[in-house]
Amino acid sequence: MRFDMLEMIDTRPDCHVQEAEYTRLLGYPPRHDLEGRAREIVETTRQWFAQHGRPWIYARQADTLELAGGQIRIDGAAFSSSPLQKQFQTAQVHAALLLAVSAGPQCEEKARAFWLEGKPDEYFFMEMFGSAVVEHLVTVANGRLCAWADQHGLAALPHYSPGYSAWDISDQPLLWDLFRKTSNGFPGELDVLPTGMLRPKKSLLAIIGLTRHLDRARSFARLVPCENCSLPGCQYRRAPYRHPRPQIEEVRPPQSDAGNRASPAAVGASGLTFIALAQRETGTIRHQQPATVAPQTQQS
Ligand code: SF4
Repeated sequence: MRFDMLEMIDTRPDCHVQEAEYTRLLGYPPRHDLEGRAREIVETTRQWFAQHGRPWIYARQADTLELAGGQIRIDGAAFSSSPLQKQFQTAQVHAALLLAVSAGPQCEEKARAFWLEGKPDEYFFMEMFGSAVVEHLVTVANGRLCAWADQHGLAALPHYSPGYSAWDISDQPLLWDLFRKTSNGFPGELDVLPTGMLRPKKSLLAIIGLTRHLDRARSFARLVPCENCSLPGCQYRRAPYRHPRPQIEEVRPPQSDAGNRASPAAVGASGLTFIALAQRETGTIRHQQPATVAPQTQQS
């Protein structure tokens, strides 16, 4: 089934990441007010990205969708994610949308440069801003896709991506192949490694189901994407925003420098020493760590 759309390309999407979403990814508790050094880095990071970031959004409607034998077949490619299959069957999905978003490679290149300069706080804030941009782009795309679906008497279901629960990330190259069949050219650079890793890593590929059975989409909470969507003032919202999707990307220092230590001067000046502490403990940076760490406590 094909409706009168859809192919959407945006190479200049709005990237005004909500502060609450950014601070959540940084690991601060809800309603935490940033101040001092943290506020300074946040503002500098935002300004840098606004000037240098090259984010993009791409979405297109798949030509064909078949549900059979425990598989979802989209444009001939078979995916075997049981939650996605169940979601599509429960909602009696009519069609599938393919969604790709990326913050672009610039922010991770800048983050790497910060790391090499011995600026772990700037590194971490830039890394997390890239992640926040990806989430924001998904939200922006949701806003447009949900509006389009509503105008066509359809409901869009929650997006689902390789790497989410019960969907092996090794399906990512298969999904990526579907995007490469796009007729109008792809708007940004993206590579998918055989492991399923995306390059740039601040990117996401997803599938979104469309159904005409609005009653079903309303009856099952898991079929309503709004609980995971932070879009403010959405006129199509069907449920309050409750929680974001869990982040699947793990933030690590650049591989070739995993043994480096942050310069004591940089760490000491920042008051955000959690980054160096986390690395010292594990050899990796765990972005969840600062959630339980108030910057002042770290200074002692
Ligand atoms: S709030 Fe709900 S209806 Fe609005 S864009 Fe987000 S997911 Fe779609």
